[in-house]
Amino acid sequence: MKFGTKALHAGIEPDPSTGAIMTPIFQTSTYVQDGPGIHKGYEYARTQNPTRSALEKNIASLENARFGRCFASGMSATETVIKTLRPGDEVICTGDLYGGSFRLFTQMYEQFGIRFTFIDMRDAKNVEEVITDKTKLLWIETPTNPMLNIIDIETISAIGHKHGAKVAVDNTFASPYLQNPLDLGADIVMHSVTKYIAGHSDVIMGFLGTNDLAIDEQFGFIQNSSGAVPGPQDCFLVLRGVKTLHIRMQRHCENGEVVAKYLKNHPNIDKVFWPGFEDHPNHELAKKQMRGFGGMISFIQKDDSLEKTESTLGKFKLFSLAESLGGVESLVGHPSGMTHASIPKEKRVVGGLTDTMIRLSVGIEDIDDLIADLEQALK
Ligand SMILES: *Cc1c(COP(=O)(O)O)cnc(C)c1O
Repeated sequence: MKFGTKALHAGIEPDPSTGAIMTPIFQTSTYVQDGPGIHKGYEYARTQNPTRSALEKNIASLENARFGRCFASGMSATETVIKTLRPGDEVICTGDLYGGSFRLFTQMYEQFGIRFTFIDMRDAKNVEEVITDKTKLLWIETPTNPMLNIIDIETISAIGHKHGAKVAVDNTFASPYLQNPLDLGADIVMHSVTKYIAGHSDVIMGFLGTNDLAIDEQFGFIQNSSGAVPGPQDCFLVLRGVKTLHIRMQRHCENGEVVAKYLKNHPNIDKVFWPGFEDHPNHELAKKQMRGFGGMISFIQKDDSLEKTESTLGKFKLFSLAESLGGVESLVGHPSGMTHASIPKEKRVVGGLTDTMIRLSVGIEDIDDLIADLEQALK
């Protein structure tokens, strides 16, 4: 099956007891057994829930993964990967990482003896330089947030495997519609389902997919032991949202391209970050490993100052000032003051994330209205 068909049908069967075409919300904590240990495959809802199982199969299929598991948030999915490690293990991570991942790694897991090294992964040689026999995991995020750098999943996966490390990719920004890390050699794909997959800004959820049974069994053990599972109502909402993922992504990409080009030609704009530009330093790689360039765009105005940036942010009417991304509605954000505030300023500016950067999550509204809003906000 192709992507759009899978988005609607993968993992979904009519309910056997009623024929309901939509997967019911199995709002139950437990399941009645015929005798001790004699049951229908469902014992307790932390361990298994049919609404969750349908969604896990669906997203796994979109990522060409044999196995998939959903978690209560993107962060709990990420934490599950880290919990497979042991004290003394080392992790090499993309430098301009999602702020919450940086906080989780440095403020929660370094104290348990896991070492995290943050490097610029655009040059794969940098990975070769810092990788050791203690490196057990490479954590890649691409496109990066908010710099929109592109990292070569295939090359870095090969380096990781040569040194016996597993490779995980946070695929939130691309969505499975634009990029499938497992097909490029990664061992684990992670999503903040909250963003493009759910797509309607009404759910917090995470996902992990893999083709490796041993890894999936570890994830299942942690999912059940730690218990950061999503509720069935949220799983239903995501099952509903995911049915239009391909259509939404097409429009996010179309609108993103128009907005990126508009900003690039705007007299008051100094820099625009979007991997679809031919002069983007990683454009050829983006073309190779992605099927489109998405609707995430960052920019910096000319004669920039924090005051001017804050004043511009206050002028948007249709773009809402909010954290998050990937929903149907357009959002504008201030990475240094919002999503990336948990990363120390010295670390932020090294990667180019200045206090004057503005980030857009271009939604699926009519493009003329989006451009009109930008026009008045940038005046
Ligand atoms: C939002 C986000 C996360 C965290 O996901 P939550 O669902 O908010 O816990 C992780 N990585 C990236 C790239 C994100 O955008």
